[in-house]
Amino acid sequence: MNIVIFGSPGAGKGTQAEIIANDYGLKHLSSGQLSRQMLNNRLLGKKIKSYMDKGELIPNAIIIKIVKDYIEKNKREKGFIFDGYPRTLGQAKELDRLAKQSKTRIGLVINLKLDQQEALKRILKRSKSSGRSDDNLKTIETRLKVYKKLTEPILGYYKANGILKEVDGRQSITKITKEIKKIIKEVEKKK
Ligand code: AMP
Repeated sequence: MNIVIFGSPGAGKGTQAEIIANDYGLKHLSSGQLSRQMLNNRLLGKKIKSYMDKGELIPNAIIIKIVKDYIEKNKREKGFIFDGYPRTLGQAKELDRLAKQSKTRIGLVINLKLDQQEALKRILKRSKSSGRSDDNLKTIETRLKVYKKLTEPILGYYKANGILKEVDGRQSITKITKEIKKIIKEVEKKK
């Protein structure tokens, strides 16, 4: 099964994606992490950094290629858990196309719900140890705005596809994992 872990910056996507990937033998695809790994790339590093440092989205032409390459490299895995991708409706549709090409599909989208105030607080706390240059107040504010404007609207698309489930992101890590596992079990049963 392929799963998308959805939610605003700071909602806990990375933490949950890692746990679920480990427990279900899925490949964790974090588009943010993949982009950070590209920062030293001779051709694209500077360009990628300029978007990330502002908290803006990396253009589709670059990010889609990064994601596609990672999927291709790991195509023998039994499934993926997508974290931070898709972030626009265009990316969501592109992901569906990619999945279809590989004769698979996105079976579940989990939205980790967290209000912006709480998200901001969490990222600021994380900034003390993350070492991420984009975990500063100005950039975080832009990232949250970009999320509201471009990313959150994808929820409507997934809801219409009937694959969207919501989880309260304010709960503890353990409680959230438990809920996600319950949802996965239900979805697998229906297959
Ligand atoms: P994240 O680690 O998911 O918070 O992502 C960090 C930064 O990487 C974002 O603020 C964007 O600049 C960039 N990024 C990550 N995923 C995407 C994506 N799917 N589309 C465009 N830019 C992305």
